[in-house]
Amino acid sequence: MAGKAIRARGVVQGVGFRPAIWHLARLHRLTGAVWNDAEGVMIHAFGSDEDIDAFIRHIPLQLPPLARLDSLEAQDLNAPPDHEFRIVASRENHGAQTPIAADAATCPDCLAEIADPANRRYRYPFTNCTHCGPRLSIIRGVPYDRCRTSMAEFAMCPRCRHEYDDPNDRRFHAQANCCPDCGPRLWLENGDRETWHCDDPVTQAAELIRQGFIVAVKGLGGFHLACNAADPDAVARLRQRKRRHAKPFALMARDTDMIARHARLDEQESRALHNKAAPIVLLAAHGMTLAPGIAPDDDKLGFMLPYTPLHSLLMQALDAPIVLTSGNVSDEPQCTDNDEAREKLAGIADYWLLHDRAIVNRLDDSVARLMDGSIRLLRRARGYSPETLPLPAGFEAADNILAMGAELKNSFCLLKNGQAIVSQHIGDLENAAVQHDYRNAIALYRRLFGFTPRRIAVDLHPDYLSTQYGQALAATEPAELVDLQHHHAHLAACLAEHGAPLNTEPVLGAIFDGSGLGDDGTLWGGEFLLADYRHCTRLGHFQPIALPGGAQAMREPWRNAYAQLLHYFDWPMLRQEFGGLNIITLLTGKPLDTLATMIARQLNSPPSSSCGRWFDAFAAALDLHAEQVHYEGQAAIALETLATPLFADERPYPQAWTVDNDGGLQVLSWHGLWRAVLADLQCSTDKARIAARIHHSLIAATVERLNRLCRQTGADCIVLSGGVFQNRLLLEAVSRQLRQAGKTVLSPQRYPMNDGGLALGQTVVAAARSI
Ligand SMILES: [Zn+2]
Ligand SMILES: [Zn+2]
Repeated sequence: MAGKAIRARGVVQGVGFRPAIWHLARLHRLTGAVWNDAEGVMIHAFGSDEDIDAFIRHIPLQLPPLARLDSLEAQDLNAPPDHEFRIVASRENHGAQTPIAADAATCPDCLAEIADPANRRYRYPFTNCTHCGPRLSIIRGVPYDRCRTSMAEFAMCPRCRHEYDDPNDRRFHAQANCCPDCGPRLWLENGDRETWHCDDPVTQAAELIRQGFIVAVKGLGGFHLACNAADPDAVARLRQRKRRHAKPFALMARDTDMIARHARLDEQESRALHNKAAPIVLLAAHGMTLAPGIAPDDDKLGFMLPYTPLHSLLMQALDAPIVLTSGNVSDEPQCTDNDEAREKLAGIADYWLLHDRAIVNRLDDSVARLMDGSIRLLRRARGYSPETLPLPAGFEAADNILAMGAELKNSFCLLKNGQAIVSQHIGDLENAAVQHDYRNAIALYRRLFGFTPRRIAVDLHPDYLSTQYGQALAATEPAELVDLQHHHAHLAACLAEHGAPLNTEPVLGAIFDGSGLGDDGTLWGGEFLLADYRHCTRLGHFQPIALPGGAQAMREPWRNAYAQLLHYFDWPMLRQEFGGLNIITLLTGKPLDTLATMIARQLNSPPSSSCGRWFDAFAAALDLHAEQVHYEGQAAIALETLATPLFADERPYPQAWTVDNDGGLQVLSWHGLWRAVLADLQCSTDKARIAARIHHSLIAATVERLNRLCRQTGADCIVLSGGVFQNRLLLEAVSRQLRQAGKTVLSPQRYPMNDGGLALGQTVVAAARSI
């Protein structure tokens, strides 16, 4: 008789891993035990050599749906064999190091139960099991046991208890296990907090939605506002009441057949929708149109499928998709608490579909898009966090690091034992409520992962609230503060995600985004870099152009158009030659003398090589949101949308750019492109063609620069990242042309290429410099 001690690491706790091991051990006639501990799961197995070998071989093949096995190590064990195979209760583990599972969409078995009139969970909206249901959204501490979740308030009934205790049951140790007799309950309220007495609040809520009312729905990670997506009045009312003027609304459909009536989706997109994380997937609008107010100026619709029994039951009662947008007032985080929702959503919602299970951790819906052959997460939250990323070889030796993230689309990241733990999307820290959430979430993650930072990584930008909070933390704990350049962090995040080893050769990067502070104290954002994890050299960039009015230039694209035109042309000449164009007329009505003086004297007009503002300027020239944008990227999205139908027919403008040498840096100037665009506008060329030609010109310049830099540096691997690469035309064409030239192209997939992915990059740069 042989004995082995087998160590399993990964997402192995709270996901049904131990019962799976128990079944497998019995199948292979083994005795011994399995238990959770601080490092994951430990197995002691006794039996013949062949049986133990077969058992170990089968473990990775028999994983329960939510488990992820990162490693499995076996060692000989000299101990007296057991008489049977047992599951041993959790031992309290201080500073648990094991990843906690993310919330997961309802599994097929649970869906079958709620659809079965003979089942005791028939139509029960909180049905879940070991293979699905809430996790991070309900957890208060570790180890993951019911008493440390918001299910602690609900004592299991004898039947649920029996399931929980039976290793043969799908609900063995399912911490959120419950049923209609013992679990949370659902009710419907009106604006006067009066409960609507009815047999079935879900069906009633569906009826109200069908009639055009707006219903606040308490979901898994927060409140949503729901209305009928096929009802233009309801959607317009929601926009107006929510004071959300332009940003697209997310949609939920019953199934992919319902989605296919309104959008095009292929195999990969369908798989992403059905993923256990159930993200919002951005799809090309196609076929039957929905209310026009859902996604103004956008050719995409963001769809998700039901991911809780509550959503499934709601959608079964409806025959059109619903808008399901976060339940908040303008820029605040979505509500999570009943009273908070009653108060804050008063004046927006007509009815409230509430339940009595607390949402401990707010989790927004994740957002993904298929680009360049891969599903890419643009917002990473529910369903993905707090999954860990095992970092590439070499990072095991790094100190514990806390990376504070960016200012907008913030997420933060912990590094512990070679694993990067990126938080869910937190939001824009300018908002006080988001900031409050940010601090709480950092505290929670520290508790969950038993984490104390040795280094705190912040962005170079002194005004980021994340930077300031990192400085404050570093002042109160024995942790060293490190500040890191924004675009280097973008590049490094992509390297880490793709498994580049610690001592990787330097790679080239084109990092295009809104802006980030550069090493020279100016704002960067259209950058060509040569970097590895430790070092980063700027090789080239877009021509820096003033941002007249600073932050105002982010909200008012005409300011960027003016600054660009003023840089490349003589203004009186422009007025004379192109005075009839809308953009020139619009600019003429602005206080241009003041702006010109500000720019000349560098008063509140920082120069920036931003690619995001470059897009805004060209969008403004084509009359797209010239006066104002309601969210960052709105003008660029409109330009991409306009260019898409004619993109394949068009080519770059000839001589669109020039490259100047500025003290060894290659500076990309766009005089030729501006002249060509103005000339096209002058002869009334279709603006869609102009938009396509602008895209092609940027693509051609980017590819030409990168190919040349490859020859100059000897690098042949290129990272494309930064929020601007969320433009599908740009990402796909640049990637394809570089691959055709024999280059390796890396771009982010599992972590956002926008600032939501920044903390991962800060983490690996800080780690690499500490080793
Ligand atoms: Zn289930
Ligand atoms: Zn029960």
